[in-house]
Amino acid sequence: MTDFAKHFQKKSWIEVAEDSDFSLQNIPFGIIKNKNFAPRVASRIGDYAIDLLTLFEFGYLDKLGFNKDQFDNNRLNKLMKSGKNGSRILRERLIDLFEISNEELQKNHGHREKVLIPINEVENEMPIQIGDYTDFYSSIEHATNVGTMFRDPNNALLPNWKYIPVGYHGRASSIILSGTPIHRPKGQQKPNEEEPPVFGPSKLLDFELEMAFITFDGKPLGDSISTAEAEDYIFGMVIFNDWSARDIQKWEYVPLGPFLAKNFASSISPWIVTLDALEPFRTAGPKQDPKVFPYLEYQGDKNIDIKLSVELQAENGEPNVICESNYKYMYWNQNQQLAHHTINGCNIKGGDIYASGTISGSEPSSYGSMLELSWRGTKPLKLKDGSERKFIQDHDTITMKAHCEKDGVRVGFGEVTSKVLPAK
Ligand code: MN
Repeated sequence: MTDFAKHFQKKSWIEVAEDSDFSLQNIPFGIIKNKNFAPRVASRIGDYAIDLLTLFEFGYLDKLGFNKDQFDNNRLNKLMKSGKNGSRILRERLIDLFEISNEELQKNHGHREKVLIPINEVENEMPIQIGDYTDFYSSIEHATNVGTMFRDPNNALLPNWKYIPVGYHGRASSIILSGTPIHRPKGQQKPNEEEPPVFGPSKLLDFELEMAFITFDGKPLGDSISTAEAEDYIFGMVIFNDWSARDIQKWEYVPLGPFLAKNFASSISPWIVTLDALEPFRTAGPKQDPKVFPYLEYQGDKNIDIKLSVELQAENGEPNVICESNYKYMYWNQNQQLAHHTINGCNIKGGDIYASGTISGSEPSSYGSMLELSWRGTKPLKLKDGSERKFIQDHDTITMKAHCEKDGVRVGFGEVTSKVLPAK
């Protein structure tokens, strides 16, 4: 068993602000580019991107089993071929190299200048070539709220919910990077029960506050991954905004579930925070009653204490924090989600992404969607500029943030931010 908190006392020779998500204990992976160089694999400490291709070329990553192609790449998928062990060895080496007592790179100013790039001089690219995308529905508070609103407050959860980590297969092609604006989707809606459906821009555009994990290559078709094995197949996590058009969703979802209400866009944060970096922030999940099937049983603490927030900013307005939630509220954890996903022999691949489902807590201020925050539009949110929101308006920007904090150590994800433009 690896002692994941062993790095907690360490400091980097790179300056890291106290409220930075990118401490020496984080070491996320992503893709950077700028006008001087092609996209490449990078990490980040404080306000510096670490150019891992250049670091590799200078020989600082020798004898770790990597080749240049894994860093000289516009996606992380090739690096991920080295699996859990590879990403762990690389992260451990970087923690060591940037730790304050290590002078290898610290004293080589020529190399330092080339390897460390101020974060405002680079742009991120999509970190991975996403294969398949699955969206779960694993927050009991969210599922209860939605069931209460749309069905029956006395039977809010459907009979399967506490037995199955409910999920559906989503669309990978429209997953986009933070900073990319989206256009309001158009589609069929049926606002009046007694009248025929109408067509037009969605009026009930919403976000869903989610976290997502990304897998390495899994087992062959026909094999399953147990809850005990799940972490060996998970690379890391990102913040995930699962954009949703509630009016399109309501009309189309029977009987096969969401389709065009969800597949027009989902936005992710650019830095993948490894599961190793998140291990020290594990916490117990909610008690599961009724008892789950043996293939969903698990040992140890498998939830993670990740503080989440959502900000809504109108054009020329200031940000309004409209939601504060936590990933630790999840009823079904990642290990169970992956075990369930593969129990029928479904194979998983490197670069597949699995979103949690909207993460709501028990307090109204922790609800992870406008649908719940405004209770289906019956309780509009008041913004600082005096305006109100039931759902998202054109030119609004939604920003989600996520971080862990414990014993003075902070490991975070930065943000995923996107602006909503009018329908095309
Ligand atoms: Mn979702």
